[in-house]
Amino acid sequence: MTNDYRLEFRPYQRRFVRRYAVACRQTPLTTSHGNWDIREGIILRLTDENLKVGWGEIAPISWFGSETLEQALDFCRQLPEKITEEIIFSIPDELPACQFGFESAWEWGMGSGGGGGDEGDEGDEGDEGDEGDEGDNFITPNSSLLTPNSSLLTPDSSLLTPNSSLLTPNSSLLTPDSSLLTPHSSLLTPNSSLPTPNSSLPTPNSSLQTPNSSLPTPNSLFYSALLSAGEAALNQWETLWEQGYHTFKWKIGVYAIADELEIFESLIHTLPAFTKLRLDANCGLNYEEANLWLRTCDNFKANKELDIEIEFIEQPLPVEQFQEMLELSRSYETAIALDESVATLAQLAACHQQGWRGIFVIKPAIVGSPSRLRKFCHQHKIDTVFSSVFETAIGRLAALQLAAELSQNNRAIGFGIDHFFEQEETWLQSLWNDL
Ligand SMILES: [Mg+2]
Repeated sequence: MTNDYRLEFRPYQRRFVRRYAVACRQTPLTTSHGNWDIREGIILRLTDENLKVGWGEIAPISWFGSETLEQALDFCRQLPEKITEEIIFSIPDELPACQFGFESAWEWGMGSGGGGGDEGDEGDEGDEGDEGDEGDNFITPNSSLLTPNSSLLTPDSSLLTPNSSLLTPNSSLLTPDSSLLTPHSSLLTPNSSLPTPNSSLPTPNSSLQTPNSSLPTPNSLFYSALLSAGEAALNQWETLWEQGYHTFKWKIGVYAIADELEIFESLIHTLPAFTKLRLDANCGLNYEEANLWLRTCDNFKANKELDIEIEFIEQPLPVEQFQEMLELSRSYETAIALDESVATLAQLAACHQQGWRGIFVIKPAIVGSPSRLRKFCHQHKIDTVFSSVFETAIGRLAALQLAAELSQNNRAIGFGIDHFFEQEETWLQSLWNDL
């Protein structure tokens, strides 16, 4: 049976905060790809014949390998007002962010969460209750509902550090059968207290989930927090550490290597014990520089006095230099994670096929079809780190659902990015109502 879904969509813009920019005279988010001031995307809403609603987000990053926002908008505009599952599951591979947005909106509406399109999924079971009465709760970009690290907390996680007094293995948050901990827990299922058929439009006085309302911040132990490039990182980690983040990602390959190595030296000597540090070069190093960074990290690893772990160097070289990265991954102790090289499912499969057995950074919002991603990860058991593309809470919910299902090796997920955005509690209400 084919269902029809009424499609509505709205483009949005979110501005990165300028707090750090002022301090270090740079734009809010600087990588070796350049600066980023405003995140633009599209919010989708699918409504089926029974008025069940599913939300989705298209959050492209064209310079990272996805379609452009314009291409995504063109795709949405040429669709009929009512679309079918056939349309949703035949979006071309050239539009990976659209594949993610439409499929996750469909899954949300179906209420089956991780079921995916590959399983037929005829049943709408379990969705009828729909917690419609709670439906006034609404999502915000920083909503605690949508920082559902919970399902990623596992009792044996290596990220539970000896110093963590808040998260002990006996904590109720950490028991395997805790309702907070299952991938399909009500915190993570798309139909929990999010917009429901009875509240498909946000009401102005709905009770908003505030960042610190219901879940304790220790969950952020399992998030990797992004540090700005250059010296700014030195003044940035402490607040994040106090918020509970113990894994950080620092952007490298932005400034002269000699300066960055000096800052790195300061950073590792100031970070508290048991911190994990990831270095993300965003393709910004050359072969010699990559060797120098890897050698530096290996030397650091050999120094037993410091209890900090350099977890990996992310995408040291440009995508075209895959063979060099493969060689480097076999030459040093320090692990390498591919990111730009594996932006889409096709690239992921190609790198795996060519022998990559290191870490894969997966950005669910741009990698493509969630159902096909599930299939690939299940089939190949790859070592993954799930990461944000600075999407809103809507895309993040679907991305975190995938991370909860597919993460291996207890790696922190790269969604600790709220501090890069201005807080706009009512952004979605505004977006949807201000036509
Ligand atoms: Mg990266």
